[in-house]
Amino acid sequence: MQDKVKATTNTNLIEGATGEWEIIVGLEVHAQVASASKLFSGASTAFGGDPNSHVSLVDAAMPGMLPVINSECIAQAVRTGLGIKAEINLKSVFDRKNYFYPDLPQGYQISQYKQPIVGEGEVEIDVDGEAMKVGIERLHLEQDAGKSIHDQHPEYSYVDLNRSGVALMEIVSKPDMRSAKQAQAYVTKLRTILRYLGTSDADMEKGNLRADVNVSVRKPGDELGTRCEIKNVNSIRFIGQAIEVEARRQIDIIEDGGTIDQETRLFDSVKGETRSMRSKEEAHDYRYFPDPDLLPLEITQEYVDDLERGLPEMPDEKKDRFMRDFGLSDYDAGVLIAEREKADYFEKVAEGRDGKFAANWVINELFGRLNKEGLSIAASPVSAAQLGSIVGLIASETISGKIAKDLFEIVWSEGGDPAEIVEKRGMKQVTDTGAIEKTVDEIMAANPDKVEQAKAKPNLMGWFVGQVMKASGGKANPKAVNEILKKKLGI
Ligand code: MN
Repeated sequence: MQDKVKATTNTNLIEGATGEWEIIVGLEVHAQVASASKLFSGASTAFGGDPNSHVSLVDAAMPGMLPVINSECIAQAVRTGLGIKAEINLKSVFDRKNYFYPDLPQGYQISQYKQPIVGEGEVEIDVDGEAMKVGIERLHLEQDAGKSIHDQHPEYSYVDLNRSGVALMEIVSKPDMRSAKQAQAYVTKLRTILRYLGTSDADMEKGNLRADVNVSVRKPGDELGTRCEIKNVNSIRFIGQAIEVEARRQIDIIEDGGTIDQETRLFDSVKGETRSMRSKEEAHDYRYFPDPDLLPLEITQEYVDDLERGLPEMPDEKKDRFMRDFGLSDYDAGVLIAEREKADYFEKVAEGRDGKFAANWVINELFGRLNKEGLSIAASPVSAAQLGSIVGLIASETISGKIAKDLFEIVWSEGGDPAEIVEKRGMKQVTDTGAIEKTVDEIMAANPDKVEQAKAKPNLMGWFVGQVMKASGGKANPKAVNEILKKKLGI
């Protein structure tokens, strides 16, 4: 593993009026923990309920209510820590992060500050075929806030507390990324890891994965510049756009003789710009202190080891295995492992068959078609068993590759057992050399001039191959056709 990871060489410098600039990016990703109930209450975390229908007395911060930690959320945080190869802290502490906002009835968020549950780790990413590691600073558990709704009635604002108290994992990276592309690859990989682990749905559209993007710029070799934080960016595409426009804004300011103010900004995807929200607060502004309602959280090494034994095969391991056992290229293996469902599908197709050949069909025919129709792998009309059967029919030379594409179309739109369809519709490949020879003789007899040309110029034989295939309705075995033609043309 070590040898394929290179130190970050910066080929991502961007041009300014005074020379080249380097972009420095660090990300704080908030991922909603996959758990039926909230971090400190039994209220449901289900998405899309009526406003204020999933709110317990704890979530509403009624006086005297006490938080009780949800053990499943702890297990999910530890699993995630293990999945990003991080240090697990056997003792961690919940703190109050104090601030006022209408959607935060407690007047503070319960979070972790000095002693988070997960410490340093790393995530390996791949950008344009080059592997690199992004350091993880920490992962901590915290509560989500409620939601303010301003647009339903002009004179009122509303508060929906359904999200209040939902468990979040805040995953903080080191400032290791040097381009928008690297940051996008990092979030994509993190999402893959979370989904493999089942610790977060990591669905950006539902807001259960959002990123705060820290961006600064400097001349290569200089000290780190002042950073701005762009809050709550909610798509991978927007993360890339936000980084690029923010870096450009900072470079322009510095080159005009100005300085960067540390501040919190938001990305306006319609205007393609970032805008100031507020000057950046420092940690001490929040008056963090340990929550007196919660004891320090202590877990044992046995508990951690137990969770580790229960982890699934992770994407990097799966990729290595696919390359080793199926002889796949780095690229193909990467495409297949990007989603666990895709990898599982491929393995069913490849079982007992040529892996490379199966991968070609899964990636080119199936994924290509799913993409075109905007379907997920789970919604594929062609099952892994059906595609496996098609691949098997080609491998056994029962059907030709060309006929297999027709067969794929039939199974896609009508369903059915591929072997039966081949049988019923007479799609079997003709390997009977007698029959092929007869067709070859007929075509040669009808085209004496072409025969003469092909004898002189062997690469003109392709024309005959095409004619024979056409005459057989694509069913002639191309290998047999080639052999017979070579013999008859004396090539
Ligand atoms: Mn946070």
